[in-house]
Amino acid sequence: MKTFALTLAATLVLGVANAQAPPAAQGQPAQQEVKVVTTKLGGNVYGIDGQGGRAAALIGPDGIFLVDSQFARVSDKIVAALKELSPSPIKFLVNTHVHGDHTGGNENFANLGATILGRPALRAQLLNPRPGPGNGAVPPVAPPTALPVVLFDAPTTVYLDGETVHMIPLPAAHTDGDTAVKFDQADVLMTGDVFRSQGFPAAAVTNGGSFLGTIEALTQMIAIAGPNTKVVPGHGPVVDKAALVFHRDMAVTVRDRVAKLLREGKSADDILASKPTAEFEEKVGGPPAFIPQFVNGLITELSAQKR
Ligand SMILES: [Zn+2]
Repeated sequence: MKTFALTLAATLVLGVANAQAPPAAQGQPAQQEVKVVTTKLGGNVYGIDGQGGRAAALIGPDGIFLVDSQFARVSDKIVAALKELSPSPIKFLVNTHVHGDHTGGNENFANLGATILGRPALRAQLLNPRPGPGNGAVPPVAPPTALPVVLFDAPTTVYLDGETVHMIPLPAAHTDGDTAVKFDQADVLMTGDVFRSQGFPAAAVTNGGSFLGTIEALTQMIAIAGPNTKVVPGHGPVVDKAALVFHRDMAVTVRDRVAKLLREGKSADDILASKPTAEFEEKVGGPPAFIPQFVNGLITELSAQKR
């Protein structure tokens, strides 16, 4: 009886604590706790870290060119941080891919006058959302103002603020609407989530992503990176071309191991148990859940190729 009473009391206390807890305690950082930090990457290009995938801004007298928009709730803070760098309006915004931590602020920036650019497949998914990675939740349909209005499926260049900005469509990799963005003068390459500097490749298959396509996309990005290019991933520290090459070569090694085991008639369980990623795990780091997702994804795609 006493135990019951204690348990009940504890439950009540917990219940009250949960009800009154700030959103941060429930996995949603409260807005006042999020700091938006800008970091010079090169030339007039700045990385933007706030809440969501890393964004970036080219600043200058012709207007600001944004890469990705993070979550809607930090738009005001991004605008304030950009005001510290430049009085110019936000003129363009390109999305590296459809996920909400990269497109959530689209509507807010469009309302401030930004023209949104992106791939047709990205626009299609904003209009007809599919279950995302992680919890598989289907995001809400994007409002019309959040949609890209200038669409490209071929390499497209924008000249602005003395900078040459290349938007490079990638094969289906993290999603089926991925774009890499290269700033020539600043020598900065934004990879979106096709490349994370920590963690194994994370293709969002429900969003049309592909692990084999990720390897192709990594190779394309390596081809446009120079020896001193700042390689700026959607998540994780800024790295260099050598890190991108290591990541691609690692993925190729694992792919080839899995392919060999499949040719030998091994089952998916056998292949997972052989730990084809083992030697890379310490260096690659990142969420452990990405490892079986990567190996299983390769098994599925390589098996489908054989048929
Ligand atoms: Zn993503």
